[in-house]
Amino acid sequence: MLNSLEGKKGFPRLKPPFPAGAGLYGCPTTVNNVESIAVVPTILRRGAAWFAGIGRPKNEGTKLFQISGHVNKPCVVEEAMSIPFRELIDRHAGGIRGGWDNLLAVIPGGSSVPLVPANEIIDAPMDFDALRDLKSGLGTAAVIVMDKSTDVVKAIARISYFYKHESCGQCTPCREGTGWMWRVMERLVEGNAEVEEIDMLWDVTKQVEGHTICALGDAAAWPIQGLIRHFRPELERRIAENRSRTLEAAE
Ligand code: SF4
Repeated sequence: MLNSLEGKKGFPRLKPPFPAGAGLYGCPTTVNNVESIAVVPTILRRGAAWFAGIGRPKNEGTKLFQISGHVNKPCVVEEAMSIPFRELIDRHAGGIRGGWDNLLAVIPGGSSVPLVPANEIIDAPMDFDALRDLKSGLGTAAVIVMDKSTDVVKAIARISYFYKHESCGQCTPCREGTGWMWRVMERLVEGNAEVEEIDMLWDVTKQVEGHTICALGDAAAWPIQGLIRHFRPELERRIAENRSRTLEAAE
């Protein structure tokens, strides 16, 4: 954003220096999410103690949850941090399409965070610590709900395509890795892969994660890690099915 304001290509900058030290035109710059700015007047009016009294310790305050996917009423709602997932969905989004037994998995913090399977998220508090403990994250709180009609492998492959498309190409792990991961994901949708490639894909996500200028590299790696962590049997089932189809065709 700072680069764009300076009339340059909107490439992410290497940090440090952080914008607070050297930002727009090299001057100290405060960069804040509009969500943070918007809540300041209310905190000033009602007091910091009031705001800090909402949510669990270290996860205080309110959050804008953007609930999409297979819920009855997708919506954006400001709620207390740490609200249990089930309560958030029942109170504001009209429940899961087809009922709670039809829930497959949830991406709780925007497309970049790993998915969490239904049984783990239903009673989880929607906050930073709880979702980190589930090996995911609250991220932007863009909650993507997937019911059992979802082709979860295809869904993650689509996310991989998005990150491949969005990569600005400055860093090699992201530029090369996002395309490589997406191509493997596309084959995994059809089961057109070897079982060992699942481990190779995992290793590549680990090579991309934490080795790039901006968070897009992590964002491309984490959804795939979540898929392998929780849906590996589904990946292996597709590979086995594809193999038997190929053998049948050859006979
Ligand atoms: S991680 Fe990707 S999007 Fe971010 S700077 Fe590097 S190449 Fe560009």
